[in-house]
Amino acid sequence: MTPRPGSKRSKRPPKFVYTFREGEAEGDREQKNLLGGKGANLAEMCRLGLPVPPGFTITTEVCSHYHKHSRRYPANLRKQLNGALAQLEESMGKRFGDPTNPLLVSVRSGARVSMPGMMDTVLNLGLNDETVNGLATLTENPRFAWDAYRRFIQMYADVVLEVRAAKGETQSPFTRALDDLKRKRGVTQDTELDAEDWMGLVRTYKSLVKKATGKPFPQDPQEQLWGAIGAVFHSWNNERAVAYRSMHMIPSRWGTAVTVMTMVYGNMGDTSGTGVAFTRDPATGEKRFYGEFLMNAQGEDVVAGLRTPKPISNLRDVMPKAYAQLERIQRLLEGHYRDMQDLEFTIEQGRLFMLQCRAGKRTGFAAVRIATDLVKERKITQKEALLRVDPEALDQLLQPVFDQVEQERARKEGRVLTRGLNAGPGAASGRIAFTPEEAIAFKDAGEKSILVRLETSPEDIRGMQAAMGILTVRGGMTSHAALVGRQMGKVCVVGAAHLRIEERRKTLRVGERRVPAGEWISIDGTTGEVFVGQLATQPSQVTQALFGKGKRAERAAQSPTFKAYSAIMRWADKHRSLAIRANADQPDQCRMATAFGAQGIGLCRTEHMFFGEKKIGAMREMILAEDATARKRALAKLLPLQRKDFEGIFMAMGRRPVTIRTLDPPLHEFLPHEKPAQRELAKKLGLKASEIASKVESLTELNPMLGHRGCRLGITFPEITQMQVRAVFEAACNVAKRTGKKPRVELMIPLIASSQELEVQEPLVRATVEEVFAKKGIRVPFLVGTMIELPRAALVADAIARTAEFFSFGTNDLTQTTFGISRDDAGKFIPEYIQEGIYAGDPFASLDTRGVGRLMEIAVEQGRATRPKIKLGICGEHGGDPRSIRFCESLGLAYVSCSPFRIPIARLAAAQAALRA
Ligand code: PEP
Ligand code: MG
Repeated sequence: MTPRPGSKRSKRPPKFVYTFREGEAEGDREQKNLLGGKGANLAEMCRLGLPVPPGFTITTEVCSHYHKHSRRYPANLRKQLNGALAQLEESMGKRFGDPTNPLLVSVRSGARVSMPGMMDTVLNLGLNDETVNGLATLTENPRFAWDAYRRFIQMYADVVLEVRAAKGETQSPFTRALDDLKRKRGVTQDTELDAEDWMGLVRTYKSLVKKATGKPFPQDPQEQLWGAIGAVFHSWNNERAVAYRSMHMIPSRWGTAVTVMTMVYGNMGDTSGTGVAFTRDPATGEKRFYGEFLMNAQGEDVVAGLRTPKPISNLRDVMPKAYAQLERIQRLLEGHYRDMQDLEFTIEQGRLFMLQCRAGKRTGFAAVRIATDLVKERKITQKEALLRVDPEALDQLLQPVFDQVEQERARKEGRVLTRGLNAGPGAASGRIAFTPEEAIAFKDAGEKSILVRLETSPEDIRGMQAAMGILTVRGGMTSHAALVGRQMGKVCVVGAAHLRIEERRKTLRVGERRVPAGEWISIDGTTGEVFVGQLATQPSQVTQALFGKGKRAERAAQSPTFKAYSAIMRWADKHRSLAIRANADQPDQCRMATAFGAQGIGLCRTEHMFFGEKKIGAMREMILAEDATARKRALAKLLPLQRKDFEGIFMAMGRRPVTIRTLDPPLHEFLPHEKPAQRELAKKLGLKASEIASKVESLTELNPMLGHRGCRLGITFPEITQMQVRAVFEAACNVAKRTGKKPRVELMIPLIASSQELEVQEPLVRATVEEVFAKKGIRVPFLVGTMIELPRAALVADAIARTAEFFSFGTNDLTQTTFGISRDDAGKFIPEYIQEGIYAGDPFASLDTRGVGRLMEIAVEQGRATRPKIKLGICGEHGGDPRSIRFCESLGLAYVSCSPFRIPIARLAAAQAALRA
């Protein structure tokens, strides 16, 4: 083990510098935490005997020390570094700063996970007014030497001395000077400049540095080296890196390592070149050596897009020997790491050098294909394959996608109107509809639309269904729009705060830019982008195979993507212990859920059934009823309608369990809020519009989420519970008789805070059920249980479990009430809270295990104390979040329930949770 700095037990001073060269290295691939990904993999490649330019890595611990002690280095670092440098000089037969035979190095960053482009790098370090001549003589190429020197000054000045573009300008003074020079010479390409030109440019660059910093450009290579090392450590805390870390939840204490490596040159003429390659296609996962290279170039030329690189296969013709060696190495590395690798290489005058290797970033498509192919090739086990695929990446396989080329073009053309939260993935284009009615009208006319709302309410459901996608100004990841949108599988972008809906003008505005209603927009629910205009989309192969018909579906089922997806799902099911259910309340959603592999319904929100054409009328009549008799009359109209819906669900679900929840939202949500709609309703019911308005007003609550809702409705209006229970069980008995298969019902009471509430509702439920059974002459198996979605319910779960046969954690409301923040508008400050590190992430998206999770633990413990075999599940949105699923596994829940489109993600996440447990 490596002695740690400050460790009392270690007698020797802690080791901060690890050397590597072809054939040997002090570190290895296991030491990513200490050496960073780059340092560890370079060491590993050296151990494998691969051609790697020699060098050394300064550990991440130095970075932590550097930041903790106001940019001071630990004692001993200098001595260790000088030792490593001396070794490097010896193995290269060159000396750092030697005017005739100079050693030149690159100084690179490398954290334990790759943070592409976030931190800084300095190349060609060690050049000065003397060594440049040595390099010129040694290479017999003065043009090359002076080109390298000017590149070094520019990079060093930018990264270390912070000489950058002036405020309001985009070009750095160095780029401007180079452009001026080219203009003066009447050329357009760098390659058209000669040694004299570069020499002159070096003079200009040095004077620019002097002018900006007041000091001459540092000539002492030691000073240059320490300057660059400090700058790389410093760049760990630059704005880009900090933002990237907060996005990817990378702790700032990790720090970066610094690798100092001998320079090799891809720009030394026609037998030199540089490139990047992947051992498999990172977009599709296809097994083919994939990449690009440029002859006579340095890495930054490829990145800067100054010249167009060539496909790697061309290298075979240009430099057959180097290509053959690279081919061998890529196979060896993939075999060694047993995963797709991303490689960087340089060929210096015909000689190949490996500069980097790491596990390659890949799309969701590539992830499943590579994982399953590696199993087929017997390189990894099924279990390893399951752990290799990020569950979230499966989403990409299910959603229609924008044509990539077209999307990139739209970005370049400045067609991104704004951005919001990526609440429901996929891609959708349509005409702007500002009301549900407009969306429905578009659909009836055979047109596509995007429903754009300030926020959505249950009233909008039909419009949401009719639209291709949903865009809202307000709301977070569990706002109504996000939750319902995801459940419907709609593309959904919420909380696009810069968007203004101008009601009167009927336009959408961002800043000065306006888009009128009826115009096309496109939303990307995976990135949160909103585009002006129409972008082409296509359905995914997986959904075509699962839900499509005919030849197209057959073809999709034979596609490598679908085969890989199916294999991952099959293996996941073999290894997981959590059951996966769906949140669904329509027969078609249920069918979709089972096609995705749902083993039951974990939450049927019955209120969503009240929004159908005929039902909302009867529902409103019920709410507006003056007394219990009138209410019962209206409920009698609702009963057959609900029963029919339940029959559809039971038919779709067969013997799978179905959890049905009695009415939950406050009643005002079902009444129209706009005057014209109120007038229309009044006419229909033979009432005065003012009567409706006053009823709406009387039902309106300041905080409806904490108001007259949940079980409180069923307690104050028992006839609502009775009607719903009757509808559920009549439907279940009917289906049992019709199909011979008895549905398994789990009836759930929402928003219980005290055991007494359940003790009032439960006998009512059971008595009604018995009535139905007696009338129908048949029984079906059923349970009565409750949601645990208020802190008090969790704390008194022992008492509740005396009555409840199951608990289902409603973590949306539980999060809301535990934090005391509203799930509908916390989106205003949550992003800033995350940015500031106050929240680790959005607690509505990923479970707060410390607080909300603690309450769940208490509820589980207490529930089991009363009823050891109590059935436990979760149906809040967290049921589809991999990190939360892992926590549910640790609690020993029986199932998680999520929206249909997240089921594949949940299946894989549950398998990973079980494998990691
Ligand atoms: C919950 O609160 O987590 C839940 C599932 O219920 P709803 O989202 O319908 O309030
Ligand atoms: Mg709830």
